[in-house]
Amino acid sequence: MNEILITDLLDEQKCYELIRQIRWQDGVRCPECGSEEIRKNGHDNGLKHRQRYACKSCNKSFTDLTHTVIASNHIPIQHWMVCWILKDKMSNKQMAAALDLPPDTVAEMRYKLSDGIVIDSILKQWDWD
Ligand SMILES: [Zn+2]
Repeated sequence: MNEILITDLLDEQKCYELIRQIRWQDGVRCPECGSEEIRKNGHDNGLKHRQRYACKSCNKSFTDLTHTVIASNHIPIQHWMVCWILKDKMSNKQMAAALDLPPDTVAEMRYKLSDGIVIDSILKQWDWD
């Protein structure tokens, strides 16, 4: 029997629902111009739960993860959500074992999440790159 990881038990759709709850508490807003004039614009190819949006004001498109710490890497959203939920309850070593990731990666994820999931300022976006 293959080893089962905690993230195997998580539903990707639920993870995106949680992100949307955290991120769009006051409704969806364009991360570029702040407009609330948004329309839904389908889903990402290959990531069927990631909602795409288009801004009616500036015509930019974005997703649930645009301008979040989760957006620009290859770690699945389930791993990020476990890290987010358990960040105050597990050591890096415990979490690395639970997620089957190197401890350095877990430490980096926690560091990024320590300021929250959404990257608010342009300054912070540059910091991460
Ligand atoms: Zn806009």
